[in-house]
Amino acid sequence: MRIEIKKDRCKECGFCVASCPKKCISFAPKINKIGYHPVVIDMEQCIKCGSCYTVCPDGVYHFIPGGDQ
Ligand code: SF4
Ligand code: SF4
Repeated sequence: MRIEIKKDRCKECGFCVASCPKKCISFAPKINKIGYHPVVIDMEQCIKCGSCYTVCPDGVYHFIPGGDQ
């Protein structure tokens, strides 16, 4: 499973950050195309539970089968 982040959709609401059981989501220093700091995942910590995908109102996360990330 690989997680793809559509960073230009992120509105920095923080719902996913609050929902992540591993606390491995943070905000990038550089703003995206709509003026927000988009999320980044520390993949070393991520357990691919899907919480971030479930709570995100803006369709930022895409879980793609296959691959090792
Ligand atoms: S899949 Fe789970 S552990 Fe990984 S970033 Fe999303 S909420 Fe956190
Ligand atoms: S829930 Fe979605 S829009 Fe909100 S901070 Fe997370 S990725 Fe960005």
